[in-house]
Amino acid sequence: MQAENRYEAGPLADLLEKLEHSAPELRTVADWPGEQFQWLAEAGVLGWVIPREYGGEELSQAEVIQGYLELATVCMTTTFVLTQRNGACQRIAGSEDEQLKAELLPQLARGEIFATVGISHLTTSRQHLKRPVVEAELRDDVIELNGAVPWVTGAPAADFVVTGGTTEDGRQVLIALPMDLDGVQVKPPAELMALNASQTASIDLSGVRAPRRFLLAGPIEGVMQRGQGGGAGSVTTSSLAAGLSLRSIRSLETEARLRADLEDVVRPLRQELDELRQDIAAASARDADGDDPRLAAPAIRRRANSLVLRATQAHLAATKGAGFVAGHPAERAVREAMFFLVWSCPQPVLQAALREFACLGVE
Ligand SMILES: Cc1cc2nc3c(=O)[nH]c(=O)nc-3n(C[C@H](O)[C@H](O)[C@H](O)COP(=O)(O)OP(=O)(O)OC[C@H]3O[C@@H](n4cnc5c(N)ncnc54)[C@H](O)[C@@H]3O)c2cc1C
Repeated sequence: MQAENRYEAGPLADLLEKLEHSAPELRTVADWPGEQFQWLAEAGVLGWVIPREYGGEELSQAEVIQGYLELATVCMTTTFVLTQRNGACQRIAGSEDEQLKAELLPQLARGEIFATVGISHLTTSRQHLKRPVVEAELRDDVIELNGAVPWVTGAPAADFVVTGGTTEDGRQVLIALPMDLDGVQVKPPAELMALNASQTASIDLSGVRAPRRFLLAGPIEGVMQRGQGGGAGSVTTSSLAAGLSLRSIRSLETEARLRADLEDVVRPLRQELDELRQDIAAASARDADGDDPRLAAPAIRRRANSLVLRATQAHLAATKGAGFVAGHPAERAVREAMFFLVWSCPQPVLQAALREFACLGVE
């Protein structure tokens, strides 16, 4: 079995403890995890994905993903917001514009500015619509954007949103959009089933003229398929599901010490989790997907989604009515688990979940 926790002492252990204690307080759209981000900055976490030359720690992908897993075990809201912020940092770091990187990345590493992503309309969201939801027009020195970015976690707190639009000829641009430009309007954050404190909102763009120096990539077809930052359904998303599964399975194991009837149920869940964690570690240690189909990102995400739904519901069932009361860790875990059905969920993963619900077996 893998070590449960790498951070048994030191600043990261303290961070995990603080995040665990504060997690139940992150309930409403008013509870933005600003203090939690301060703790992340103090523990060096905000430098994880930022290159050393810009003041970051530049951890390997495997280390970052292991870190996400441990953070998600204690606080899903903070960890989820961190992944969106890190996605933005990775896209900025992946650009070829040295000047823009030197301007933004050191401030991001120190936690002085906040960036996030609004990219789902380029990958998983609104794909069935004929007209792109954000239209981009390239002029000499500006990119004009019109439309609405449907999902942006942490939008009200953002100084920059990495987002994109589609040009008339079907190519896409990716841009680090400064939020103080004329025509950018953040809508009030949506009331969600869980993760309300992530302050996820849509952003209206009306005749926004962004200086071209904020362009990160494009115009090109499929701009999100290039560069770093974890695509839809990446192993990053699975590591969060595994972290949440671990939280519920640990609670079940504690309960099972007093109730022998739970032992038969907890054992296979734990075994499944340990195998999933091993495969997440193996997949994230490699550059590409390689040949092993078990280690392909969508295959891992399918398993992670299935496990997190079952583990959290087992947690709720075992805690009975007490677990159904608002504020109990089990009900929170069940609500948070539902997020994986909709977050960054590519069609094959969604299809697999629907087939599992209909008992149709894996294709
Ligand atoms: C809490 C939360 C936070 C998020 N944060 C971010 C973020 O920070 N950055 C980011 O980029 N993304 C983010 N996302 C987006 C996420 O990753 C997915 O892209 C999103 O959940 C997809 O849902 P959608 O409603 O936009 O999908 P859509 O595919 O647009 O579906 C919308 C509706 O359209 C209809 N529909 C769907 N498919 C079809 C079809 N083929 N034909 C006809 N009708 C159809 C359905 O009724 C559906 O309800 C977030 C999502 C959530 C829920």
